[in-house]
Amino acid sequence: MKIFTTKQALQQYLAQIKAAGKTIGFVPTMGALHLGHLSLIEQAQQQNDVIVCSIFVNPSQFNDPKDLEKYPRTIEADTRLLEQVNCDVLFNPEVNEMYDGNEHWHLNMGELERLLEGKFRPGHYQGVTQIVYKLFNIVNPDTAYFGQKDYQQFAVISKMVELMQLPVKLVMCAIKREDDGLAMSSRNIHLTADDRLHALILSKTLYWVKENFSSHQIASLQSEAASLISAEPGVELEYFEIADGSTLHPANESTKSAVALVAAKVGKTRLIDNIILS
Ligand code: AMP
Repeated sequence: MKIFTTKQALQQYLAQIKAAGKTIGFVPTMGALHLGHLSLIEQAQQQNDVIVCSIFVNPSQFNDPKDLEKYPRTIEADTRLLEQVNCDVLFNPEVNEMYDGNEHWHLNMGELERLLEGKFRPGHYQGVTQIVYKLFNIVNPDTAYFGQKDYQQFAVISKMVELMQLPVKLVMCAIKREDDGLAMSSRNIHLTADDRLHALILSKTLYWVKENFSSHQIASLQSEAASLISAEPGVELEYFEIADGSTLHPANESTKSAVALVAAKVGKTRLIDNIILS
């Protein structure tokens, strides 16, 4: 695997790949890699000649400095994993390679950045689009792969690609879960043994809502789900919303594609999860 830490060296290398007519699949991550990330790489490998994975803990998307500081960084283990799965290229820049400390970014995404995650993490999606835009410019991939795990992020990035007419195809990959249902996440490392048990209420409730979706009213499912999660010890619910899968506005009985999304603090760790209902 080739490892690059500078934009220039990566771009020079990728120019040769492009010149040879090869396609590039791109998987941006913040590292602390798990099987969820690897499933994105696997899907990218099936559809492209060369795979670039980036590992960059992006400061501009953290609205809480403590969260940024505490974010797991496991670059050596990550590099080994990427080598094991035959990833072709790792881009692992320092912060000053990506930001010159004197720049302004604002993308008008409308409501999309104020709903759900946007309400609880103001500015988060400005930071996400800022870094993904930079990475897309550097890597210039044919296709970029993102997880359904961050459902709203996928919607936000799709919006950016549309607004800025970027020549990249986006693919959403299914959520990888532990055997007991917990969605894999780099943040799971912070869960205590007790937290880990309590965290199961999130996926259990999502599955329960999916099972009952066709036979119950949305409002009653939503309030029952919120009560189930709030009743779990050590779990502080931020939102449980059944939303329209494309706009992320609250769903109603005529919504064609609905998704249930949840965010909660489990102990000190904030987790998100979702399930596609229809
Ligand atoms: P992160 O490193 O958390 O920024 O995630 C990098 C990419 O991996 C994002 O597109 C995530 O949506 C995706 N991802 C994270 N967790 C999972 C998971 N459990 N299953 C599938 N994709 C995931």
